[in-house]
Amino acid sequence: MKTPIASALGFIAAASALLATPDPKWLGHDRDRPQPTVVDPGTFSSQDQPGRPPSDAIVLFDGHDLSQWAAMDGSPTKWIIRNGVMECVPHSGYVRTLESFGDCQLHVEWASPNPPHGDSQGRGNSGVFFGYDRYELQVLDSYGNRTYADGSAAAVYGQYPPLANAMLPPGQWEVYDIVWTAPRFGADGMLVSKARETVFHNGVLVQNNVELTGPTSWLERAPYKAHPERMPIALQDHGNPVRFRNIWVRELGHHRRKEFMLPDAVLDGYVGDYPRDATDSVHVRRAPDGLLTFTFGGVEFLMHAESPTKFYALTTDVQGEFSEKDGKKELRISVGDP
Ligand code: MG
Repeated sequence: MKTPIASALGFIAAASALLATPDPKWLGHDRDRPQPTVVDPGTFSSQDQPGRPPSDAIVLFDGHDLSQWAAMDGSPTKWIIRNGVMECVPHSGYVRTLESFGDCQLHVEWASPNPPHGDSQGRGNSGVFFGYDRYELQVLDSYGNRTYADGSAAAVYGQYPPLANAMLPPGQWEVYDIVWTAPRFGADGMLVSKARETVFHNGVLVQNNVELTGPTSWLERAPYKAHPERMPIALQDHGNPVRFRNIWVRELGHHRRKEFMLPDAVLDGYVGDYPRDATDSVHVRRAPDGLLTFTFGGVEFLMHAESPTKFYALTTDVQGEFSEKDGKKELRISVGDP
């Protein structure tokens, strides 16, 4: 069990990791310091033509297919592509990325229906969610459409109205450039640092590093509840056929192995007991947020998916790979280098 001092040290280490201070390893103007990575910045979009993403971006939608997206349970989405544009099919549910992301720069372009229908929250409503379905940046046709300020376009819904209304007329392509800092939680589930968000709407600063009070909620102020640092990004179905194009993301900070939230059906299929050796078994169970637990040797590990068959723990160098032999699932565990 962790001592209070160990918990406190962990808290301080996690919190100080988020503070931007010059790295004491390097002298001022140190010529040995590694050069910044070269990135081809791509091109800006016009109304007629989506731009080209930066060379190090992960492209989430480029007009060709929805291969990076799924319904929230991981099954195929019912959203459609029309003329190279991704469109919400009303009442078909949210869509989410297959891959999970923590701190990131996200670029999203969207267009509300033209001619517009409805008013207030009923007009061109969608949303960009971080943390799976937890933290909404509002998408709404706010062009001459009055609604409550903290629910208008580019609001951190229910918390922070945008600093300006930078909307173009309905049907035009709106651009969001977002810097997302995920909240951090300790091993004990306590909040270590809150989520932060900076947003440019059509190049205009509309959210300046605001600190989220907790997950998005309606009519109440919900508290944070622990979840993994990396989670899928989702787009909201609020019953309006909002369109999206040119979606890309750049992961920030410490890079590690990729992480995915697998479909519920796949995760359910892995649940069971697998022989490890003559005396021990690996017990595989579901955990919240698309994770599995592997229990062996009397220890439970929280396992993240690296691919549809490979899992890894963040706390210990444990990995597991599922395979199938004669119609029967097998699990190979390795501790240390696989
Ligand atoms: Mg919304």
